[in-house]
Amino acid sequence: MKFYSLKNPGFRVSYREAVLMGQAPEKGLFFPEFIPRHSKEFLAGWKKLTNEEIALEAIAPFTGDEIEMPALRKIIEETINFDFPLKKVEEHIYALELYHGPTLAFKDVGARFLSRCLEYFVSRSDKKVTILVATSGDTGGAVADAFYGVQGVDVIILFPSGKVSEVQRLQLTTYGGNIRACEVSGSFDDCQAMVKQAFADKELNDKYLFNSANSINIARWLAQQFYYYFALKQWPGDTPPVISVPSGNFGNICAGLLAYRRGLPVTGFVAANNENDLFVRYLTAGDYEELETIPTVSNAMDVGKPSNFQRVLELFGNDLRELRKHISAYRFTSDETMKAIQQTAQSTGYIMDPHGAVGYLALKEHLKQSGVQGGIFLETAHPAKFKETVQPLVNSEIAIPQNIQKLSEKKSESMRISTSFEEFKEMLLSQ
Ligand SMILES: *Cc1c(COP(=O)(O)O)cnc(C)c1O
Repeated sequence: MKFYSLKNPGFRVSYREAVLMGQAPEKGLFFPEFIPRHSKEFLAGWKKLTNEEIALEAIAPFTGDEIEMPALRKIIEETINFDFPLKKVEEHIYALELYHGPTLAFKDVGARFLSRCLEYFVSRSDKKVTILVATSGDTGGAVADAFYGVQGVDVIILFPSGKVSEVQRLQLTTYGGNIRACEVSGSFDDCQAMVKQAFADKELNDKYLFNSANSINIARWLAQQFYYYFALKQWPGDTPPVISVPSGNFGNICAGLLAYRRGLPVTGFVAANNENDLFVRYLTAGDYEELETIPTVSNAMDVGKPSNFQRVLELFGNDLRELRKHISAYRFTSDETMKAIQQTAQSTGYIMDPHGAVGYLALKEHLKQSGVQGGIFLETAHPAKFKETVQPLVNSEIAIPQNIQKLSEKKSESMRISTSFEEFKEMLLSQ
């Protein structure tokens, strides 16, 4: 399997090269040269397989012979060594909890898969890799945890000052070692812009072998397909569900759509947006304007320009009408999100985090409008991760998992920088 650049279809590389490069020249996104369809035999029997076996089937056509089978099995085992339970919230509505990994959000799986693929590739070369990543909150923590102590890889994380939760800030700044955090006095988009500029900067590239651990790296994107198999495996209904995905950069939903194109039986997808609703506007009007990021209670979805948008379009042949047949999109405000957390806790006892709550709202709205029987929303983070927002809305005490409690005892360290790229560059060159 080769991967081509969406900026230049003639530019083709192997899985290994695509993972090591992160991005194609001119900020192109890598995309598989064909969509490997599942066989009838697989689709008839896959639900009896273990999660590890399913994940192997899901990923192997993409990694091909670039990772030896025993190594790939081990990478998968380490990537998904926690639970992915499907919980009933109310009649016809289920939550797939993706927050049982080390940093309590879904990004652990993609980040762990990527870190282990990189370790595999780097250990077979003499180069050191520097991961440069911008985060609106959860990516950075997942990357820090996944890469901490990984040989041959350094990590530099940029996050917007004052715009991440306390738990998120601790997860970014307490690892130390090969993990460094920069606190930027700006928005996530500012952080993202600085990272992109660094990737394109000649002088910096002479000194560093950069890699992005953002959801644009194919290792993260492809591994996120696993959730959709795990969700359907546990689905109790007879008709396939719709799946609602709280979306920011559109990496997660794009992985679901890929699995769907390969033949996974889903009735359709719902893109759940907060006030940063570019995709909703695009589906409605067929056009979009890139707007400034609006801060919301679901901060990991505060993305003005979703990086994976081009991949979503490519999966549907860049045909808007085709896209509309398979995906619906809805937008909810912070007020609506908080109200949903409060009401759902009251009526069902289920406590959602602000991201999952947007997914829940979008799913409910879609079931109402479409008449589809039932669905799953992805609960992408543990409510304790957003305790400041969630606790005042619910009666029962939200317990903070132990590994998070320990963070506040650790030393927190970060470098404060402005949004000036020149300043950032100076810092990198002087190290
Ligand atoms: C990153 C994140 C999202 C958005 O996922 P994308 O792949 O960027 O669309 C949603 N919820 C949580 C908790 C996240 O961390």
